[in-house]
This record gives sequence, structure tokens and C-alpha cells, in this order.
Amino acid sequence: MNIHIVETGFFKLDGGAMFGVVPKSMWNKLNPADENNMCTWAMRCLLIEIDQRLILIDTGMGNKQDDKFRSHFYPHGNDSLIGSLAKLGFSTDDITDVILTHLHFDHCGGAAYRSENGALLPQFPNAKYWSHSVHLEWALKPNDREKASFLKENIEPLVLSNQLYFIDKDSFGCDSFEFDLAYGHTEAMIIPKILYKGKRIIFAADLMPSSYHIPMPYVMSYDIRPLETLKEREKLLTSTFDNQDIIFFEHDPIHQFGTLKKHESGRIVLEQTFSIEDLK
Ligand SMILES: [Zn+2]
Repeated sequence: MNIHIVETGFFKLDGGAMFGVVPKSMWNKLNPADENNMCTWAMRCLLIEIDQRLILIDTGMGNKQDDKFRSHFYPHGNDSLIGSLAKLGFSTDDITDVILTHLHFDHCGGAAYRSENGALLPQFPNAKYWSHSVHLEWALKPNDREKASFLKENIEPLVLSNQLYFIDKDSFGCDSFEFDLAYGHTEAMIIPKILYKGKRIIFAADLMPSSYHIPMPYVMSYDIRPLETLKEREKLLTSTFDNQDIIFFEHDPIHQFGTLKKHESGRIVLEQTFSIEDLK
């Protein structure tokens, strides 16, 4: 098995929304806000080569959004989904599987593109796209809190294609992958776990979007059920620490991976962060 990082660029989100009830005097030391109170976040994906398969987990926001959207979320940076895949020597045709942890735009926007004649099409013509059937139902009838995150132009092309599969109904068929579900951030978000060199890598998605979110009160205001997020995060931290697993941070502007340790107070805290080079 080979694992690669696929950086798709940065975007900005309101610091208050990202750190929930934590006061700015505390979070601003971790990820300093700009003059509009916006913090910069990565949209970092993983690419796994295994058994003739090339499996992409999440896709960033893509590049089909209009100027108004861009003025809200400030996509920036030198990396793009297609560019980062090309740097690794892969084209969109090579991808065999795309796991979408959930269908918020910053995770699935790169999954579909707008062709020259305006048609919206799956970006990866040979891939199976993997979602969860309960999550898709939820995303197709979005509530007012999540409506701005579930965008038709991202989701419809996948539904209309013959390429959409569900981890709860279809067999993913790879022993090196396990899937958990989380319900606090959105309904039935997929948490992929990858067995790699005797370790487990937990793709924490928006259950633990950055290393800054490890302390318990740091729950995003976007979450639909923050108290459920707390329970899920406690479970994630405990099992990650007990099994000495590795957490992958999708939105951390700097840190790619982290491990956990037990503080003398008994709390589970960040032990160290590291990058993909240290993993190999
Ligand atoms: Zn996200």
C-alpha cells in the first residue's frame, strides 16, 4: 500500500463558527484570524494505492463555484485537486474509488466539474463514488442550517451518474479499510480507517477537523448536534489513544497527522504532529 497527501488548496471560515463556544482570546493564538475574523483552513485529501485500486478520500471544493461563493470562502493557495494528482503522476481517469465522507461542499465539490458546454459531470469517469444512503437522503433535503453547505451542483451529477455506491449497501471490498459513522456534525458522516504498516490511520473528517480541535470544548458551531459530537469525539480520542492510532487532519492549515497521549490530569491530548514523510 502507498499513501499520498493530496492538497487541494485553502479556504477561509469564520473563526467563531469554527471554534464554537471557545473565546477568541484563546483560539486566536492557535489559528490567528484576519481582519474579517476569518481563519485559513486546508482542504487536504488522502490518496491510497492498493491492490490495483487508486482510492481518493474527499475532493476539496473544486473550482466550479462563482465569484459570489468565492467571496464568502476565499479559496486560495497554489494547490488544486487535479494539479496535486498530476504531481503524483495520476490523471482523473486513474482514480478507481472516491470516498466522500459527507456531501458538504468543502469535501465533495471536486467530485463533479462543469464541462465546456455547461454540463455538470463526475470528475472521475472511471471511479465508483462512495457515500452513505442515509447521508445522501439527508443531503438531498437539507435543513436551513446546512443548506449553504449541501450544493445541488455538487450532489446531482453524482446521483444522476451510474457511479454512486453506498458503504452501507454495497461491498467496498478492501480489507485495509474500515468505516465508522459519526452523527454530530451532519447525518451519517463516514470516518474511514486505513490499516497501514501495522497502524491505523483515522480519517477524522469534520469530527476532528484540525489538531486545534482536540480539546473537548472546541466543537464547531456548524455541527447539527454538538452534544453528540462531544460523545463521538470522546470515543474517537479514547480509541485512538488506546490503539495508538494516527489521526489525519483534513482542515488543519499546517499539520497533516497527529498522535495522542494521556496528560497527567487524565485528559487525552495531542502528543505530536507529523507529515506524510514521517509516516513512510
Ligand atoms: Zn469540512
